[in-house]
Amino acid sequence: MGLKRKKKKSYLVVVDDLGPTEKAVKIPQHKHCTSCGKAVPPDTKHCSDACKAEYESAIKSRKMLVYVIYAMVAIMMVALVLQYANF
Ligand SMILES: [Zn+2]
Repeated sequence: MGLKRKKKKSYLVVVDDLGPTEKAVKIPQHKHCTSCGKAVPPDTKHCSDACKAEYESAIKSRKMLVYVIYAMVAIMMVALVLQYANF
């Protein structure tokens, strides 16, 4: 019973030296409006005052959300500590 089946190796050529194709497309220096995404000069952030106002209100609400999350984490930590300290 010395019959061993040799699995034939499939001739799969793995090309290793093909790394992730880098996008080397050069675009003139510019930024995108933080609100609507339009291309704007690199020294400005918004294409219009309306976009600026929109962006600022979005930042404010995001900051509020972060504070709420921090508060919830803090409350949970305190609750955990109290649970272990009160035995
Ligand atoms: Zn805009």
